[in-house]
Amino acid sequence: MKKILLKSPAKVNLYLRIINRRPDGFHNLVTIFERINLFDSIELKAIKENKIRIYCDHKDVPTGPKNLVYKVAQKLKDDFRLSQGVEIRIVKRIPVAAGMAGGSSNAATVILGLNRLWNLRLSQAKMVAYASQIGSDVAFFLYDTSWALGTQRGEKIRPLKLSRKLWHVLVIPRIKLYAKDVYGRLKLQLTKKSDDANILLQHLKKNRLDAVSALMTNDLESTVMEIYPQLKWLKMRMEQLKCFKVLVSGSGPCVYGLVSSRTEALRIRKILNQKYSRVFVAQTF
Ligand code: ATP
Repeated sequence: MKKILLKSPAKVNLYLRIINRRPDGFHNLVTIFERINLFDSIELKAIKENKIRIYCDHKDVPTGPKNLVYKVAQKLKDDFRLSQGVEIRIVKRIPVAAGMAGGSSNAATVILGLNRLWNLRLSQAKMVAYASQIGSDVAFFLYDTSWALGTQRGEKIRPLKLSRKLWHVLVIPRIKLYAKDVYGRLKLQLTKKSDDANILLQHLKKNRLDAVSALMTNDLESTVMEIYPQLKWLKMRMEQLKCFKVLVSGSGPCVYGLVSSRTEALRIRKILNQKYSRVFVAQTF
């Protein structure tokens, strides 16, 4: 039977500004997505049986209908009235519920993969429409791009032609933090801040890391740190270790630092490893 092996990358948000809360409960935002070279592996295998079977040995990842990739497969099967099934094997390396969009990336990867496996001939626009039904971060991973500007819920994507690669150290403390809890506690600022995302991108193009650092921001960070004040200590520690900038990614708890080189990233990882078990070095991918 036909098999496809795929890589499913993680992201960090270099910039995340919340614009407003919408009547449907979601928030409009402006974000800069950066794809990084930390991956889950996904294997898709066509089966004759009319079933969706998911195998994943990570204890926090559901293998039934709650898995985002199950939802994708089910929707496609229903819409295309397919009677064949699929086996999906996920090897998790991206920390789960960390603010790195592992589940969303898996969902996008499976949309791309099933399009090939089942020969569905979905257009990019159709795939984006499926992605938006699954989650706000899914669409970004459908584009073959390292960088993108995300607007609306984050699902409206403008891929950016930018060859710049950055180095990062990422720490994922072993605490549970769910996006819905962070958004639920978010207090929106009354004053409307200007959108610096485009200025940041200009500096990024010219590799002015000081100027990039000065504009990197995440409106969810203060709420994340209100829930887990120990993350403030972690951020200060990473600043002391000479990261250009330290920021929570998405709705956390991943805290990542922008550093000048791989050597710097490895030096900082070694020190942070004395206290934290999940420390990664990653680069724009
Ligand atoms: P996002 O930024 O998209 O909210 P995240 O990194 O905060 O992502 P995920 O790793 O996507 O969070 O996991 C969030 C929840 O989704 C977990 O509680 C997990 O049980 C569930 N989940 C469903 N499908 C998957 C999947 N394929 N991989 C990881 N988690 C999944």
